[in-house]
Amino acid sequence: MLYVIAKHSLVIKFKKMKTSLILLLLFLFSIYACDDRRTTSQDSSTALHEGALGRKLVDLSHVYSDKTIYWVTAKEFKLDTVFKGRTDKGFYYSANNFSTAEHGGTHIDAPIHFVEEGQSVDEIPLEKLIGKAIKVDVSSKAMNNSDYLINIDDFMEWETREKTKIPNGSIVLLQTGFSKYYPDKIKYLGTDERGEHAVQELHFPGLSAEGAEWLVEHRNINAIGIDTPSIDYGQSEYFKSHVILLSQNIPAFENLTNLDKLPNKGFEIIALPMKIQGGSGAPLRIIAVLDE
Ligand SMILES: [Zn+2]
Repeated sequence: MLYVIAKHSLVIKFKKMKTSLILLLLFLFSIYACDDRRTTSQDSSTALHEGALGRKLVDLSHVYSDKTIYWVTAKEFKLDTVFKGRTDKGFYYSANNFSTAEHGGTHIDAPIHFVEEGQSVDEIPLEKLIGKAIKVDVSSKAMNNSDYLINIDDFMEWETREKTKIPNGSIVLLQTGFSKYYPDKIKYLGTDERGEHAVQELHFPGLSAEGAEWLVEHRNINAIGIDTPSIDYGQSEYFKSHVILLSQNIPAFENLTNLDKLPNKGFEIIALPMKIQGGSGAPLRIIAVLDE
């Protein structure tokens, strides 16, 4: 529209030029004022994004596909094409339906997953999902032992090495190294069988009940995450670490990836699950934002 007015102004007579110029300037100013308002409101709503642009982002989520790993009893991810191609009106159009269990792929466990009165996924406060994080790397032990249990010593070692306590309000990520096996079910889960009978075949590292209890009683963490299918190890029968953490409203992120790209400290996590009302868990897009 501006182009048309400018072009038009070129053909008006010289004596009218002055008036036209003033009108044009007024017009340009009104556009500028509009633009300014728009920019200001955008700035306030995307402040975090703009701040993050200068910092390195690491994607900690696996994609959802027909390879996505699910708990052996859970319904797997399915994508059905509704339409894909050129419509009779001439434009291209693509849309799908998808279905999935809550607990599969990179997902969150909400407190209500193991605690009757616990928060559902839509009720987890954003403060628990976004914030300062640390990483505890136990991969040198866990990669040699698929039943490895992360214990109090692993946390003490981290604190000694980093010369600090696990800071209050941290999101704690546990790196076992197992994400490098994903999506090979035999290596990652211990079995490629499915169904109730396959549960006892599960072998992958997890957090010990003692470790979970120590975190809850002696440290103050906001959330926890791991690069295996479950915060409890594969051979767990009572899922004690789930119960201990979730009963303190500490949500758990499972099936994470790319933890090897993170430092031991000095980064933030943004973990935003699908907001399913009453959900016990949900697919999770989780990223790390590295400190500069
Ligand atoms: Zn889960």
